[in-house]
Amino acid sequence: SAAVRIRSLRRSYGDVTALDGVDLDFAAGTFTAVMGPSGSGKSTLLQCAAGLDRPTSGTVAVDGTDLAGLSERRLTLLRRERIGFVFQAFNLLPSLTAAQNVALPLRLAGRHPSRAAVRQALARVGLAERAGHRPTQLSGGQQQRVALARALITRPAVLFGDEPTGALDTTTSREVLALLRELVDREGQTTVMVTHDPVAAAHADRVVFLVDGRLHGELAGASAERVA
Ligand code: ADP
Ligand code: ADP
Repeated sequence: SAAVRIRSLRRSYGDVTALDGVDLDFAAGTFTAVMGPSGSGKSTLLQCAAGLDRPTSGTVAVDGTDLAGLSERRLTLLRRERIGFVFQAFNLLPSLTAAQNVALPLRLAGRHPSRAAVRQALARVGLAERAGHRPTQLSGGQQQRVALARALITRPAVLFGDEPTGALDTTTSREVLALLRELVDREGQTTVMVTHDPVAAAHADRVVFLVDGRLHGELAGASAERVA
């Protein structure tokens, strides 16, 4: 079944057409990489799929819920509870510890997370021992793993990553990708990642290509390394 179902998706900004009719499903429990030249619409696709941006026309359904039918308030709630997002720049709050950063989504949802829940979320990304560290006391790879724990603590239907390894060196990047792969394999975490890096894309089950706002073919993950 599709964790995300996208139909006839168009998004324009004035006379710029960022997405020009995209039909795409992200199957539950799979890892998809989205590739394409700069300006091809990758970020816009991710933002629309994650409910961070509203399409000009077409539909996006997450877990069977059509996002267009939701009020801003309901959309915000769905985003908080059902969608995880990680960014190239990690976007951790610098004044908070790793544990406090990870606890944040549950706090925003009005829940009071237990230490055990926060510790377990950090353990899932191999950082149980860093709970009390602040972002500046952590390496880039550790910061991205904290961001992942924060994105996953609500057990979202889909994890989105916009160039999640773009700020990391090769070795660290591979560690984070191996972790993403493991979360898909071990927990069935549906994952969708935009990347420029064919080595990163090769960790996915499937690679879809965007050109000028349209889908332009796809490959199985392990073959992506050969095309780029
Ligand atoms: P990619 O992520 O593949 O680099 P984007 O989705 O960022 O592509 O952008 C696709 C197109 O839409 C580009 O031409 C870009 O300039 C344009 N675009 C994206 N966001 C905006 C915006 N907020 N306002 C105007 N144009 C935008
Ligand atoms: P509070 O504001 O309730 O005193 P803190 O600001 O100390 O909580 O921590 C915020 C969140 O992080 C809480 O959900 C807490 O359970 C969790 N937390 C804090 N320190 C740790 C730790 N060392 N290990 C695991 N979880 C922690």
